[in-house]
Formats: sequence, C-alpha cells, structure tokens
Amino acid sequence: MGHKYVYMFKEGNASMRNLLGGKGANLAEMTNMGIPVPNGFIVTTEACTLYNSSGKVMSDDIKKQVEDCINQLEAGSGKKFGDATNPLLVSVRSGARASMPGMMDTVLNLGINDTVAEGLAKLAGDRFAYDSYRRFIMMFADVVIGVSKHDFEHALDKYKADKGYKSDDEMTGDDWKAIVDIFKDIYRKDQGADFPTDAKEQLFGAITAVFQSWDNERAFIYRRMHDIPYEWGTAVNVQEMVYGNMGETSGTGVVFTRNPSTGENKIYGEFLMNAQGEDVVAGVRTPRPFVELEQENPEAYKEFLEIAKRLEKHYKYMQDMEMTIENGKLYILQTRNGKCTVHAALQMAVDLVEEGIVTKNEAIKQVDPKALDQLLHPMFDPAALKAAKKLGSALPASPGAAAGQVYFTAQEATVAHERGERVILVRMETSPDDIMGMEVSKGILTARGGMTSHAAVVARGMGTCCVSGCEEIKFGEGTFTLGGETIKEGDFISLDGSTGTVYLGDIPTVEAEISGNFSVFMEWVDQVPGKVGVRTNADSPKDALKALEFGAEGIGLTRTEHMFFEPDRIAKVRKMILSNTEEERRAALNELLPFQKKDFTGIYEVMENRSVTIRLLDPPLHEFMPTSEEDFTKLAADMGKSVQDVKDTAASLHEFNPMMGHRGCRLAVSYPEIAEMQTRAIIEAAIDVKKSKGYDIKPEIMIPLVGDIKETRYVKEVIDKTAKELVAAAGIELNYTIGTMIEIPRACIIADEIAKEAAFFSFGTNDLTQMTYGISRDDAGGVLKDYVDKNIYEGDPFAKLDPVGVGALMKIAVEKGRGANKTLKIGICGEHGGDPASITFCASIGLDYVSCSPFRVPIARLAAAQAALTGEKFD
Ligand code: PEP
Ligand code: MG
Repeated sequence: MGHKYVYMFKEGNASMRNLLGGKGANLAEMTNMGIPVPNGFIVTTEACTLYNSSGKVMSDDIKKQVEDCINQLEAGSGKKFGDATNPLLVSVRSGARASMPGMMDTVLNLGINDTVAEGLAKLAGDRFAYDSYRRFIMMFADVVIGVSKHDFEHALDKYKADKGYKSDDEMTGDDWKAIVDIFKDIYRKDQGADFPTDAKEQLFGAITAVFQSWDNERAFIYRRMHDIPYEWGTAVNVQEMVYGNMGETSGTGVVFTRNPSTGENKIYGEFLMNAQGEDVVAGVRTPRPFVELEQENPEAYKEFLEIAKRLEKHYKYMQDMEMTIENGKLYILQTRNGKCTVHAALQMAVDLVEEGIVTKNEAIKQVDPKALDQLLHPMFDPAALKAAKKLGSALPASPGAAAGQVYFTAQEATVAHERGERVILVRMETSPDDIMGMEVSKGILTARGGMTSHAAVVARGMGTCCVSGCEEIKFGEGTFTLGGETIKEGDFISLDGSTGTVYLGDIPTVEAEISGNFSVFMEWVDQVPGKVGVRTNADSPKDALKALEFGAEGIGLTRTEHMFFEPDRIAKVRKMILSNTEEERRAALNELLPFQKKDFTGIYEVMENRSVTIRLLDPPLHEFMPTSEEDFTKLAADMGKSVQDVKDTAASLHEFNPMMGHRGCRLAVSYPEIAEMQTRAIIEAAIDVKKSKGYDIKPEIMIPLVGDIKETRYVKEVIDKTAKELVAAAGIELNYTIGTMIEIPRACIIADEIAKEAAFFSFGTNDLTQMTYGISRDDAGGVLKDYVDKNIYEGDPFAKLDPVGVGALMKIAVEKGRGANKTLKIGICGEHGGDPASITFCASIGLDYVSCSPFRVPIARLAAAQAALTGEKFD
C-alpha cells in the first residue's frame, strides 16, 4: 500500500493532531477511550496540502482510500450509502490543527436523495426526513457549489409567512417536502443542472469543498490574526450522522465542562430538544440551559457529566463538547480544549492546580499570554456608571468594557473605524462574513444567540467585549430600540461584557490592576527559574510606576526626546536646534538641563535600586520644528532673528527619509554638547538621588543608531569624559555604564567591534525591521498589509520577529557581541519586546531581558516563563 491519507477513528489518537487535525485527533482519542462517538474516518491534512498543491484535483489513491473507509462504516453500521431502505448518512466537517471557529465549512446529512428521503420517511417520519433533506440541499449548495444560502432562507421565510407560521416548529412533513422542491428549483435555476443525487459524488464534492475552504478569504483573515501557517492545511472528518432532530426524545447541545466566562467549576452549556447542532451554534433558536436536560433525560444527563469529568482529567483542561441525543441515546460529537475568557482561564488555573489535575508549571503553559491583555484594559468608571442609563441586559458573552458609536454592518463598522471612531457593532446575529467588522470593533452586541453563538466565541477569542442574545432589541431602519430609547447609527452606547449590560451614552473607563487569581497566577509565573528578564519602556515617573505595579524589573528604554515635547520646553529645544553657533547652543542647552535633570530624578526615585537605561536624543531634528506661522513668528522674536532666517534653518534640517538621516548618534557627533548636557542631567540626577535616598543608582547610558565603531567611540568618549568629571567632583562612587542600541543591520554585522566599546546592547527592532525590510513602520497598514494579505510576508514583521530576517541579524549580533565581550548584557526594546512569540525567540537566542510598554509587562512575564519552561533554542 502507498501512503496512508485516510484513517478510521480507531486508527488515530490525540497525539496525531498535525496529521488528523484537532477535531479528528480528539474523535480518534475518544473512540479509543470507549466514549460513545459515532463512527467515522479522517482524510488527513496531508491530503489537503496535496490537493491544494496539485491543481486542486483529488488523486485516485485518496479516493480509493475514502471508499474503503465508507465500506468499513457500512459494515460496522449495517447501513448502506445511498440505500433506500437503510441509508447511511454522514456529516463532513473541516478540522484544522488549531481550531478555527466558523472559518471552515460543514455539510450535514450527506447521502440523501429522493429515494433515500422516502426510505428515511418510512424509518422516522416525513417531517424528519424532509427537514433533513432540505437542510442538506441548502448546506451542500451553499458550501460545496457556492449558491447563496440567502436565496434558500428567503424562500423558507416567504413560505412560512404565506402559511402564517411563526417558527419552524409549525412546519409539517408536507411543508418540508414542499420546501425540498422549492430548494431544488432554486438550485436548478442557479446551476442549470439538477441537484446531484449520487452519494459518492456528493461526498467527494464535500471533501474537496472543505479543502478549498482552507483557501477562502475568511480563513486567510483568521489565520493571519492567529499566526496559523497556510501549509498546515485542514483535515476532513466524515462521520456517521446521529440525529438530534428525530423528535422530542432527541436533542443536541454545546457544553463547557466549566463556565467559560467565570471559570466556575460547574457544567455550563445550552441544549435544544428536537434540533440539529447548528441550531444551537447559529443562534437561530434561543437554547435552554444545559442543566435542564436533567429533567428531559436524567440518564443521558448523568452519563454526560461522567464523560465530561473523564475528558477533563484526560486532557487536563476545560473541555468544549458537542453532544447529541438520538431517541434517548447519548453521543459525543466533539471535544476540544475550551476557549474562555481570561478571567475564567485564571480561575481555572488556580482550581485545576488545587484539584491536583495539573501542576503549577502546566497551568502556566495553558494560559495564552496575549489574553492577559484583557485584564489590563480599562473598566467603566464606577462613579460614571452609577449615573448611566441602563438600556437592557443579556448574556455576558465576552468581558471588558467598551463604549463607542453604533454601526449595524461589518462594512460600516470598518469604514467608521478608519475614520478614527470607536465602534460598537450591533447585529441580529453575526456570521463569519462579519469577521473584519468584528475585528475593528471595541464591542459587539447581538440580538440573538447564546454563550456559544458565533459572536460570543469569536469575540472571546479576540478579547473583544461582547453582549449576546439581547432579545428585547427591535431593529428599525438604521436604528434599534432598547429600554425605551431609539439609538441611531453613530449614537454612543456602552457595553459591559462581564455583566452583559447595555448602557446609553459614552461611559468613561478606569485603569486595571493586578489582584485576586491574576496575582496568585503571576506569583507562580515569577517562580519559574531561568527566565529572560522583563523591563519596561518608560519615559516618565508615571509610566515607570505603572510598569512596577505590573512587575517590571527595570527600565530598558527611556526615550529622552519625548521629554522635549512638553509645552514648557519645546520653545527651548527649538532655540537650541536653531542656534547658529556652539555658544548659542550651549546657552540654550543650559536652559534645558534643569528640566532633563528633574525628569531623571523622578524616574530614579520611582525605580529605586533597579536598572534604568536612558537613551540619548534620537530623532531627526526637524521633528521638533514649528509648523504654524504663529510659532515661527514667536520663535524668531524670541531668538532675535528674522522669520525667514529661522525658516531657512528649519528647512535645512528636514530629512526626506527620517528613519535614516541625520539622527541618533550622528546628532551627538555633529553637536557633542547635546550629549554632554544629557549626560550631565543623567549623572547629576543619579548623584542627587543616591545621596538623598541612598539608592544604588547605576545609570545605563545608551547611544542610539550606531553603525560604525568610530562614531561609537566618539560619542562614548564625550559621555565618559563628562560623567567622570561629575562623579569625581561629587566625591562618591557611581557605577554608570555605556551601551548601544543595535538597530541598523550594519551594527549587527560589526557587533564584535561594537561590543568591545559597549557594556550592553539593546536591539531596536523597530528600526532594524524597517531597515531590513526597507519598509516603513508607519506603512504597516498600507503596502505591508497587501504583502501580508498575499502571503508574501509570513505575518506582519513589525508585530512578530521574523527569525530568518531580523531575527537572524540579531543572532549574529549576539554571537559576535558575546564572542568579543563575555560580560556584555543584551536586551531588546523595540515593540517586539512585548510580543509573546518574539519573546520566545529572544529567549531562545540568549537575550538577558526584553523591554516593553508598561501594559505589556505581565504578558511578557508570562511569555518569558513559558519560554523557560519549554526551553526551545533557536538554531
Ligand atoms: C527601535 O528602533 O526599536 C527603538 C526602540 O527605537 P525607536 O522606536 O525610538 O526608534
Ligand atoms: Mg530606533
């Protein structure tokens, strides 16, 4: 036999996730655990990759393997595919390695045609048979062939309206039969051909449709958002159908083994009797709380609870399960690790450790660092909340607070977002087509759907606040009414996704803090040995304080230029820059000195004995120039020069390519007195604080943008000379160090030379990425986005370090730098220092610390602990 592309469930297990996809691997695992799973088989991800890379044709070998597995299903069930008396029907579902909710497509009830439907009607009644048939026609036409499902939905709505029916429950067998004919007509008109009746043709059509759906736009967007490589492909699960819609003793449910909003250790979910799975998930009918199943079918309920606990222990995590009861008998259709809010994830981490199901280190590995972001976001200001008008309440589908302007379609939401508005997307229910609008929204409100609806699942994944199932909402033309108020497009509302409350107006928010489970969890994180350190980028005592609250160990970057923009200083900075002689410049710098000194004093006092890295002036000087006529006039008068003179000097400073021009250490080479003044401020402040507070201040002075050993030496000498004189005069010991940013490619290549002069390196991956890719950071939404969309770049290089580009340069610099200077300390202070995947990379190449904005510090701490626990090395 050649290569195996198709596996029966009993041939697989959970460790085969890459080959069988997440869903398939878990179905296989459950089958082998003896859990009641309807039988089936999996077409592997390799088959998908082969299909998509060989002209979208399924090989005869794969077809043959699929047919063999169908034979095995038939033998096991006694049913026959396409048979009129005892037909085998299957579901066909996608299942990638990582779960992609709503992204890929599903076909249920496959194998029905007119004769099979008649047979089914004899076995289970007209109503069931033709309801199943019409569902199949619609799904197959929509997913496999591409006929719009709205045509079918409209036809059904019209039929019900003509009959005066309010819900599907009123449809009889004859009604569904009539619908089947109407649907077949729609199909024929659209396609110019009859609906396919051959079961195998249907099956191969559905399998290839799943393969192709890996290539659809929604899948591309989702993969980009979640860093999922295209090469992974999706597997296809073909499984014997069981029916939740066989009558009142049948039903279907979606259940979490714990509460996915709070983490509470109580079964949590929803079910509907006499319904198929998609009825629960799509939010078309509002389902009942799962605990009520106990009244409907106590045995099945009890059996389900036992299985749920068993699976949770087995997978060591909360499970998200799908179940169906067919004529009273329980089946499990899916289990996977559940997506939940970060509040729930932390509650669960603490509980699972206490229950002895996982160790602390296992719990640490289970929490997604990026999810912590939700806890670091503002909540509603309690005082403002008291005065706010409550419009209504519904399900707390995804936590956090959001206020913004209302838009009713994903497209309008996107446009409003581009205008710079904060957007709240309000929809009847969401579908995968809304993904782009959901991504840009601060909050999502839906009128229909439960905790497991599309809106709820996707919003939780994105960390976007969501309130779902707000059934009191009445939609009008570009408006909705709730709580007696009519809200128009563009009006402000506020959502609390943690309580499920909807408020009128734009409620202000307040900052978050670390407490409760979050703080217990972070204590475990800090106990992990061998982590890369976590510092912060902070330009003010206020930022430094916030970062300390969030657990920063020191400051990895203070950008001094931000201080120059303060309203009381910018005039002095301009004077300094526009001076024509050194003397004038020194006079202006002298005026700035006390301000700079005060800034550093404040930062040292907050940071106490911790490391503080301060970078000398970096940006091109034109950034400080006035733009308005009024400012030019004022400045000229202040300097005793003509307006034209000042304008000419300003124009001469203009950089056409600001990221590469006269900036960084080059400023200090041209105007060493600037570096002198800054060094003086850094050292004098350190001496003062050391004397007054007794802290052991060890300033780390950082030279930006070096690319040549001579400029490094030149600026270092200026700093060293100034500092030495000041320390000697103060008569105390002060251990300052001088290091460099490594942020242009040349610096990486000559890192060994630079390391001989530098006590530390800090990677400026913002500039390094711009220069490596030759693309501007500010363009991340423009040219770059097109490149990422077309899969030319593996994701956004400004968001995640690229190991073979910027990352490879870093690795060269680390090796060369450490080779030349054994005590060289190395960190990173570009934006990547706060991105978990990039932190893993930084740890793998042996950096000493990462530095990121205060709000990312907890995320970085967790990512650093996870990197230490997995211990991956890059080579
Ligand atoms: C960098 O380039 O990564 C950096 C930290 O410096 P800046 O963003 O200020 O250019
Ligand atoms: Mg830089």
